[in-house]
Amino acid sequence: MKDYIVRATAAEGQVRAFAATTRELVETARKHHNTSPVATAALGRLMTAGAMMGSMMKNDSDMLTLQIRSGGPLGGITVTADSHANVKGYVLNPDVMLPPKNGKLDVGGAVGVGLLQVIKDMGLKEPYSGQTVLVSSEIAEDLTYYFANSEQIPSSVGLGVRMEKNNTVKCAGGFIIQLMPFADEKTISQLEENLKKVTSVTALLEKGYSPEQLLEVLLGNLELEITDTIETGFYCNCSKERVEKAIVSIGKKDIQEMIEEGKDIEVKCHFCNTAYNYTVEDLKRIIKRSR
Ligand SMILES: [Zn+2]
Repeated sequence: MKDYIVRATAAEGQVRAFAATTRELVETARKHHNTSPVATAALGRLMTAGAMMGSMMKNDSDMLTLQIRSGGPLGGITVTADSHANVKGYVLNPDVMLPPKNGKLDVGGAVGVGLLQVIKDMGLKEPYSGQTVLVSSEIAEDLTYYFANSEQIPSSVGLGVRMEKNNTVKCAGGFIIQLMPFADEKTISQLEENLKKVTSVTALLEKGYSPEQLLEVLLGNLELEITDTIETGFYCNCSKERVEKAIVSIGKKDIQEMIEEGKDIEVKCHFCNTAYNYTVEDLKRIIKRSR
């Protein structure tokens, strides 16, 4: 089954909602980065949110970056997505292993204390940037807090990744539900009641709930209306030329040293781990562009 996101409204537009199934893209990320189960869960949750938040943007060239910088053993997570819900991401330390907490993967422990930064590049002079502290480091709650405090949009975020015993991804997905400023008390309290019934989005995903069914549980009694469905997936647009920019940025002195060593070098794309090879001739060409 392909990954996809459904977009919906409810209560005559007082609520907007997104739900996604992301098993394939999280498994693709796991394969690229060879992430441990807890690293896969952390990266998968942030990528699932990134895909949905990417799809909230309007223009083809808009880019979203979600970055967690934190003190836990995972070291940090970076995810980017475009408005077509193409998403990619990586963690700094992919092989983190932690004992389970309450029978679950300890994402909060792996992430640790830190900051969540959201950058939206919408082709304006300055990209929009909002930053909040991590409140639980479990990612869904941190995004809920971000939406409330940085964008002033009351939201509910649920994200889940479940691993198989063989450490591949069994299921992944989530939802984002947002209240519009004109939402009335009746809608708000009904939504709160509905949300109380969903204690674990992962449990529902594991039972095979589709994004449509997730929204039916959350908004079925609020005149849910699914507006559209879009595909989502792991996609990296790297190339030898793009990765070259990373070499340019390390500076003339270091590149000169590599040339003097006379060996080819290999540089990997952070986002998808694809290795690119640069010969001494390539480096001589690159150093001319470097400062
Ligand atoms: Zn790449």
